[in-house]
Amino acid sequence: MRRVVAGNWKMNHGPSETRAFLDSFEMPTGEGVPRVLIFPPSVSLAAAVAHPGRPGGLELGVQNIHFEASGAFTGEVSAAMALDAGATLTLVGHSERRHVFGEDDATVARKAAAAAAAGLTPVVCVGEKLEERRAGDLASVLLRQLDAVLDLLPGTAEWLLAYEPVWAIGTGETATPADASQAHGILRERLAARGWSGPEVPVLYGGSVKPGNARELMDAPGVDGVLVGGASLDPTDFSAIVEAGRR
Ligand code: PEP
Repeated sequence: MRRVVAGNWKMNHGPSETRAFLDSFEMPTGEGVPRVLIFPPSVSLAAAVAHPGRPGGLELGVQNIHFEASGAFTGEVSAAMALDAGATLTLVGHSERRHVFGEDDATVARKAAAAAAAGLTPVVCVGEKLEERRAGDLASVLLRQLDAVLDLLPGTAEWLLAYEPVWAIGTGETATPADASQAHGILRERLAARGWSGPEVPVLYGGSVKPGNARELMDAPGVDGVLVGGASLDPTDFSAIVEAGRR
């Protein structure tokens, strides 16, 4: 499977900074390069889409959608609107959406299903909090989050999964390659047990990925790529992480 390197800019890089990023981002090309996805803030999407220096092959997504198609939901955007604006993917269930904005498993699942129904590829994020890990609940948390999505997602959907331990996001704490492999194994086993027979689901690792640790994480068994927050804001660092994913 072709590796995937994704950058989640969170609430960083408005339109001007997005243009500046794309002016200096050198996207690795040639044999074995990963797919490269960037998730800018929604207000920066148009600047990225229209940028003359946007590297060919760079895929753009939004960080969040609403599960309804339209209506009285102030501040929200629908999957169809994001698609119309040039996004082809959306993050769903990022830990900040779950734990800062209070999204529960059912909401995350509805968003994933709405994205898929509109033709926007969901990147579904799952991950355990430190206290859940310490309590031995790694598998039960991941499976609860995954099952909710599998209950609603059509079997033909194209989607990606991202394992992002909450304790490793933006903290500088990185899961070891073995930790990542273990969690990815749990997710893959469940996909198989639930009879997933749709398109192959790449499973990414996210949490304090940097140029210096990206390669060993992507080399870990069961890891198909990385979802990068902080280090994706710097074009040089992000380019180095993409290069680290070259097979
Ligand atoms: C993220 O936001 O998905 C993430 C993994 O952040 P960071 O790389 O900064 O830990």
